[in-house]
Amino acid sequence: MTDLTAFAKEKGVKYFMISYTDLFGGQRAKLVPAQAIAGMVEDGAGFAGFATHLDLTPAHPDMLAVPDPSTVIQLPWKPEVAWVAADCIMEGKEVGQAPRNVLRKLVAEAATEGLRVKTGIEAEFFLLTPEGTEISDPADTAAKPCYDQQAVMRRYDVIAEICDYMLDLGWGPYQNDHEDANGQFEMNWDFDDALVTADRHSFFKFMVKSVAEKHGLRATFMPKPIEGLTGNGCHAHVSVWDLDGKTNAFAGNAGGQIGEVGLSEKGGHFLGGIMKHASALAAITNPTVNSYKRINAPRTLSGATWAPNTVTWTGNNRTHMVRVPGPGRFELRLPDGAANPYLLQAVIIAAGLSGIRSKADPGPRHDIDMYAEGHLVKDAPKLPLNMLDAIRFFDEDAGLKAMLGEDFSASFIKMKHQEWNSFVSHFSHWERENTLDI
Ligand code: ADP
Ligand code: MG
Ligand code: MG
Ligand code: MG
Ligand code: MG
Repeated sequence: MTDLTAFAKEKGVKYFMISYTDLFGGQRAKLVPAQAIAGMVEDGAGFAGFATHLDLTPAHPDMLAVPDPSTVIQLPWKPEVAWVAADCIMEGKEVGQAPRNVLRKLVAEAATEGLRVKTGIEAEFFLLTPEGTEISDPADTAAKPCYDQQAVMRRYDVIAEICDYMLDLGWGPYQNDHEDANGQFEMNWDFDDALVTADRHSFFKFMVKSVAEKHGLRATFMPKPIEGLTGNGCHAHVSVWDLDGKTNAFAGNAGGQIGEVGLSEKGGHFLGGIMKHASALAAITNPTVNSYKRINAPRTLSGATWAPNTVTWTGNNRTHMVRVPGPGRFELRLPDGAANPYLLQAVIIAAGLSGIRSKADPGPRHDIDMYAEGHLVKDAPKLPLNMLDAIRFFDEDAGLKAMLGEDFSASFIKMKHQEWNSFVSHFSHWERENTLDI
């Protein structure tokens, strides 16, 4: 276990940023001088939980964020500060609704089945002007801007700085590109244990925003920041391994269509769980009002949304909700940039484990171009059309709620209903335009 006091001395760290992620994915932190970190590792840093997006009242006792020293990262762009992920405790007990606790519980649950879930994510983002209203590069206007060589070089200073940091941190970054929307980028690094990926995902968002700000830009992971352009996905690639991490329990040949794509029986059932719970888990993978402008969207300027609208799976074909790009893993293309890094991993494990336990069948493989021929698919559910739909699907899925923990599920549903109510009570330009002269 890393001794944070010694870490500070050795690296010249003056402050620790003790950070936790709330239910809506917001990252909350206290800056603690290195001299005080030993006490914080013992007792935690105190927070008024109600002041963040957690289902707590102002009358609740202090919530304590206890740093997990194994996660510490010296900020590459501000080396006198080190970030450390924390677990939330109240009156000696884990706060059941706190996202990192939810994920840790599911990682432990998978271990009881002898399984270790490894994931990689693709957290797409836009680089905008500081106001967040325009793409920052006025020359980035091509109708098909994906992999645009000139455009990625105009943002080289930002992208290379972030990639250099990931190299130094040992994350194994391996490629960076301009994505399918003007102003949009993607950076990829190696997959790892779900909790490691979740911590890196959190830190990646913090790092991308911070480096962009340093360069006078604004980075956003918002699911659909610009109408008519491809949105920010956060695809998750998933494989499940034995506890020693050496044998891929998903690789194999279960026979039938599952075997043809190189998945084992366990892999097929895990996928079956994802398919079965898809409409409900969308409340977590696509958690905002804006999320539903990315999925179910009309064709974008580039020609495709690259986001699903129906619960289907396939082989190496990017028009479906699940793609099996090669043996021993699958890609869930549903999640977007607003997904909480911890809850994203947690809900994948929850749905997948419940699939393994119930020997869920993923149903038939569809090999068509869903964007052109999706209307021909009659045997697969459509994904939720909006956030309220998704919360209701989640609320109706007793199995998934139980896997994630009843107190988390109740709090999440309550907070998301409040958010939806806030949205619908907001008067919009659209309703005036469409109702004024009725
Ligand atoms: P694509 O754009 O083709 O979907 P990327 O290369 O952008 O794929 O991202 C692939 C992600 O999947 C990376 O994070 C990678 O580390 C991860 N990955 C690769 N193999 C596995 C695996 N067996 N299990 C989990 N994640 C994987
Ligand atoms: Mg105070
Ligand atoms: Mg990719
Ligand atoms: Mg992409
Ligand atoms: Mg992908």
